[in-house]
Amino acid sequence: QFQTSQLLNNLPKQFFASLVKKVGKYIEQGYDVINLGQGNPDQATPQHIVEKMQEAAADPANHKYSPFQGHHYLKQAAADFYQREYNVKIDPDKEVAILFGGKAGLVEIPQCLLNPGDTILVPDPGYPDYLSGVELAKAEMVMMPLREQNDFLPDYNEIPFEAIEKAKLMFLNYPNNPTGAIATKEFFEETVKLASENDICVVHDFAYGALGFDGDKAISFLQTEGAKEVGVEIYTLSKTYNMAGWRVGFALGNSSVISAIELLQDHLYCSLFGGIQEAAAEALTGPQDCVRELNNLYERRRNVLIEGLRSLGWNVTAPKGSFFAWLRVPEGLSSTEFADILLEKAHIAVAPGVAFGELGEGYVRVGLLTTEERLREVVRRISKLEIF
Ligand code: PLP
Repeated sequence: QFQTSQLLNNLPKQFFASLVKKVGKYIEQGYDVINLGQGNPDQATPQHIVEKMQEAAADPANHKYSPFQGHHYLKQAAADFYQREYNVKIDPDKEVAILFGGKAGLVEIPQCLLNPGDTILVPDPGYPDYLSGVELAKAEMVMMPLREQNDFLPDYNEIPFEAIEKAKLMFLNYPNNPTGAIATKEFFEETVKLASENDICVVHDFAYGALGFDGDKAISFLQTEGAKEVGVEIYTLSKTYNMAGWRVGFALGNSSVISAIELLQDHLYCSLFGGIQEAAAEALTGPQDCVRELNNLYERRRNVLIEGLRSLGWNVTAPKGSFFAWLRVPEGLSSTEFADILLEKAHIAVAPGVAFGELGEGYVRVGLLTTEERLREVVRRISKLEIF
């Protein structure tokens, strides 16, 4: 038995590993568990992307190392995608880094830009993996509260001015995991102003960029004037094209951040398998009906769940984007207690809000990651609990 390093020991506990274990026990015992706890898309990657990968896998050119920083055609495809979808001009040579999924970039950026003790602003509640990069960089976190009364956008007036002055980096994420909130143009404008006045690098996590409901297409941070001077956006194919297992994403925007990411990656790994890069380019530039259909599918699921829960008397807010519903737990119960009741008594797995930060207490996160029929079953099972 070797002892692990302090660096490893200090990393935050991975909540979802323990949830998977807990849910696994119920499944092993033969219960029909409806698992809405993790954020794992339940649909398959569109066929034309899979076929491109099959073809590319047979090409010996892809059997060698890819260029260290990835293939130019994929950077060009990402730039074309931003031009087409968001009317944002990106220089494929200087403003795109290819990532092993969005998560890799989110963990790498603090290590690229921060020294031990530097301050970083992180949303609470937020995607737990932000904390991993912060810990690896030995940076100091200041949490930015996301409150329901402010549509889960941080109110910069609420953050101590001293922290804003000191901060070198800030994470934002809209459409938001876990709250399902979306950002406004005005909020992004305020963010660029704050960042440029205080020399903060903004990292906008746009993992759910393709998922905006009620006709509201989510806006990219890079659409804001001056955004490229103050930050980068992380885009991933995981959710847009149901490619979570393929591990491919991008950082786009500020060229000094992009080159820092590429430098760190040069030290860590060679680039992605060429077949995946060809398939990713196909995803970005090929037919896009699959994306619209996916968005509509999640919207229909959202409606089934939210309307069903409201019919039970549960006062729930409908998410505006992402594939999560963020639901207030019944009074008198903590988020963990309520999640445990749902698992034990109704065999429904959800994530307790506290897994996303202190301000997540009082909520549970429910993934819209099963069929409408199964979501109706969720409502039926909850109705039997007679909580509401
Ligand atoms: N950012 C957020 C907010 C997420 O929810 C996820 C995945 O669940 C990611 C990033 C990571 O996505 P990827 O699969 O690209 O690593």
